Amino acid sequence: MNIRDTEIIAQTLAESGYIESPSIEKAHLVVLNTCSIRAKAEQKVFSLLGSLRKAKKRNPALKICVAGCVAQQEGQKIIKRMPHVDLVIGTQHIYNLPTLLRQSSKHSNIAINLSDTYEIPRFVPRLSTADAQAGSPAPPLDMQFSRFVTIMQGCNNFCTYCVVPYTRGREVSRNVKDIIEEIRKSVDSGVCEITLLGQNVNSYGQSNSVMTNGLPCSFSMLLRQVAQVDGLKRLRFTTSHPKDLSDELISCFAEIDNLCPQFHLPVQSGSDAVLRRMNRKYTTTDYRRKVEKLLNARQDLALTTDIIVGFPGETEQDFQQTIDLLEDIRYHGSFSFKYSDRPGIKASHLDGKIEEHVKGERLQIFQKRQDEISLERNKEYIGKSLLILVESVNYNKLAGRTATNHIVHAGLSPSQVIRPGEFVNVLITSAGNHSLKADLLP
Ligand code: SAH
Ligand code: SF4
Repeated sequence: MNIRDTEIIAQTLAESGYIESPSIEKAHLVVLNTCSIRAKAEQKVFSLLGSLRKAKKRNPALKICVAGCVAQQEGQKIIKRMPHVDLVIGTQHIYNLPTLLRQSSKHSNIAINLSDTYEIPRFVPRLSTADAQAGSPAPPLDMQFSRFVTIMQGCNNFCTYCVVPYTRGREVSRNVKDIIEEIRKSVDSGVCEITLLGQNVNSYGQSNSVMTNGLPCSFSMLLRQVAQVDGLKRLRFTTSHPKDLSDELISCFAEIDNLCPQFHLPVQSGSDAVLRRMNRKYTTTDYRRKVEKLLNARQDLALTTDIIVGFPGETEQDFQQTIDLLEDIRYHGSFSFKYSDRPGIKASHLDGKIEEHVKGERLQIFQKRQDEISLERNKEYIGKSLLILVESVNYNKLAGRTATNHIVHAGLSPSQVIRPGEFVNVLITSAGNHSLKADLLP
């Protein structure tokens, strides 16, 4: 979500005449788009701001703007702690950055109000340089073939460990017409893969009653319409909340050809007691049942998840249940984190905080086992022929992605001319725990 927001910030600035600077020394403006999901991400912001103080001393005309979730959460406190910061803008204000920059002064250098009736502004992606060079045989090197499209913002779920409902506000879905227009424009300019983005895409359309063809639009209805955009080869989405994963969405995996066989379904913990305290609103039995249905709809689905270890009150037995779930489902991969206390979240008031070293040990145990399972899973692809979308070509090597979102590296002979954005068939020859190696097929 932050990567996409940063692209939007860059585009709105470019439309107002800003050009990208090769270095901080030469820049007139630095924007830090920040994340506050865990304490470590926030600490990085303040340490980077500390080093920007020197840049500002050397060049007093430099403007420094802090955007995103840390800006939303800390507001005025950022300027108190770091007086060299010129502007603080919250998560709902990124589309107005150029205007805010013009208006900012010593008296009005903060825009962090969150609105419950926020409407995501209409946004048309900048045409890639490919359009400017229509007819040219080779796409430009900076062309992107894979893009994110935000379909909703905010969250209403209030998982007790999470700052997102406070930093991004209530859930708001974009209307179908704007989403399709953004995707069509991207595809017309050469993009072949789209990832739809939201904190919980499964509840798309519900909070502000999005309609399509006179009917309330569910996420699976949106997915079916997006999939039909002419020229769209691959469609993905993230993230899904298990409690809102419907049978209707599961059947999309059996029915939509360009929907990639990949699903990120964060479980967070394998213990029902912990899930209850996290306010996740499903049990591990519900979760396992949904996974089974997904795999019935699409046998080649690559499943990934998010895990938090060391949530307050997590016992050794609770943690063991998370390992048991990992052993049963055998995720292709996962993102796992030590529970991090954040300001304002309910879990920060819970008893039974787990000591840092215990969290560290549990994380290590989980990640070691996940790495082994990822490797075993990846080895299952050896000997298979797969279609990859080429992302980069470097001398005699290329890297691309499978439909299941696995990274593949392959060698190139000097006579082979392949460009990013092409689909090529490869034969998988070996596997690591984070990527696959392959030979190109004729
Ligand atoms: N909306 C997404 C998650 C966004 S945050 C969803 O519900 O899946 C991404 C991940 O960060 C979460 O899935 C969770 O695993 C992790 N996370 C969030 N808050 C955290 C915290 N306080 N400490 C540790 N990990 C956290
Ligand atoms: Fe955070 Fe839960 Fe919302 Fe995801 S669903 S953003 S974890 S509150």
